[in-house]
Amino acid sequence: MKPMVQALRAHLPRLLRFRPMVLALSIGLAAVTSLAPSQSAAQLPALGDGSSLGAAEERSIGERIARLIYADPDYLDDPVLADYVEGVWAPLLAAAKLRGELPPELEDRFAWQIMLLRDRSINAFALPGGYLGLNLGLIGAVSQRDELASVLAHELSHVTQRHIARMFERQDQQAPLLLGALLLGAAAMSRNPEMANAILVGGQAVAAQQQLNFTRDMEREADRVGLGLMGQAGYQPEAFVRMFERLQQSARLNDDGSFPYLRSHPLTTERLAEMRARLSERANPGAEPPTDMTQMLMAARARVLAKPGADALRRWAQEPRDPAFATQSAPRRAAALYAAALAQQALGDASAAERMAADLVPLVSDDAQASRWVRLLRAELALNAGRPDVALAVLRLGGPQQRESLPRPERLLVAEAEIQRGQPERAASTLQTWLATHPKDGLAWHWLAQAWRKQGWTAQAVRAEGEQRWARLDLTGALDRFRAAQALLAQAPKTPANDIEAAIVDSRVRQTQAALKEELQRERPSR
Ligand SMILES: [Zn+2]
Repeated sequence: MKPMVQALRAHLPRLLRFRPMVLALSIGLAAVTSLAPSQSAAQLPALGDGSSLGAAEERSIGERIARLIYADPDYLDDPVLADYVEGVWAPLLAAAKLRGELPPELEDRFAWQIMLLRDRSINAFALPGGYLGLNLGLIGAVSQRDELASVLAHELSHVTQRHIARMFERQDQQAPLLLGALLLGAAAMSRNPEMANAILVGGQAVAAQQQLNFTRDMEREADRVGLGLMGQAGYQPEAFVRMFERLQQSARLNDDGSFPYLRSHPLTTERLAEMRARLSERANPGAEPPTDMTQMLMAARARVLAKPGADALRRWAQEPRDPAFATQSAPRRAAALYAAALAQQALGDASAAERMAADLVPLVSDDAQASRWVRLLRAELALNAGRPDVALAVLRLGGPQQRESLPRPERLLVAEAEIQRGQPERAASTLQTWLATHPKDGLAWHWLAQAWRKQGWTAQAVRAEGEQRWARLDLTGALDRFRAAQALLAQAPKTPANDIEAAIVDSRVRQTQAALKEELQRERPSR
């Protein structure tokens, strides 16, 4: 790959993180079309007639953007944080359905996928097609689950209210056409680096302007609908106002550009007053928020995983040794120890990390969810120290029935431990049970590839690598791996297992080719 292309691959997702990206991209493309006359309008894809963007078309645009984000080194599939965020998100989605905000067509068509990004700035954003981006910086800045829920509720409402599609309609009729073409341009950049460079320049210029956005009416609507979802989902609606007030306050104290969320969501006094007015109809507007140990631990995790730099890591690692530490409340000490343990591990002191994690246990003992995070942390640290037996012991797996229904973070750690213990066949079975119902879990496919390789099942391992790429929407990469598996099987001895695998691989090659062809047809002009 050419360096310029690599640079673009690295930068484009970052540009896409800005909420005004839809417009930024279309304007970015305008620069491209003028620089690259060969990309005439006739070659641009037809994405509707510009009057409205259908759910399927919006999903397809979203997938192209999601594919770029999956390929970004800052994209992070951390099973623990993903499990936590999913647990906050699911009740909101259910509430949207119950309140009739989520039409069945959108529910089926859209991805409803939250993508975590190792970015310290405080931001969350809705992308086309039901993809949501959430920066670790935002998780790390929040001390209450309900506050995190309020940001997700607001973003979810942008999606259910079709604000992205409506934004296209508000723009000139070229907008959907241009966005589609830009994304094609991103896909085609390896074939035309000059064009890729033009996109980069155009996109940066516009992203810097920062004033393109959802309209004020759309923001109000997302506030109103989001606030409704909060109560329905069992969250404290007051957290909604508290969250936005807190953001505004922190941004005032710290105006260093680390609050892109506020750039896209300017909090007018009017907007906050409206939210407070809605809340005053409720029984308990000024309720003091309870301490939320679970969120505090997850915030600590998010801060350490967000690439904080060596100085911050050293500071967090030392914090439990500070004289002031003992005077803190138990939840604060727990959060500090959690961050310190992860920071010690990142700094390479595995045994200090494990000691601190062990110190955490009594602090969280009367909080079941916090205790689970601590078990997961201890298992993770033990595995990184090469001690799979300790990892399995701290996870307290219970009987066969409990093992059948292990949640994702536990299951992936168990599989990793089984691989480390030299039991790859057990790991494969742990993962296959999961993948039977979660076939799009790229990380599970990654571990299954390791397990199969350890068993000497090379063709199967290569196919699993293809499945991992498929799960991350990288169809070309998937096809490459599936074909490699096909070639290996063609030379393998004839056994029943190999015959079954060959049939699976053949069908995956055909499916991937069909999907790629369909994608290409969508890119081609319809007239
Ligand atoms: Zn908004």
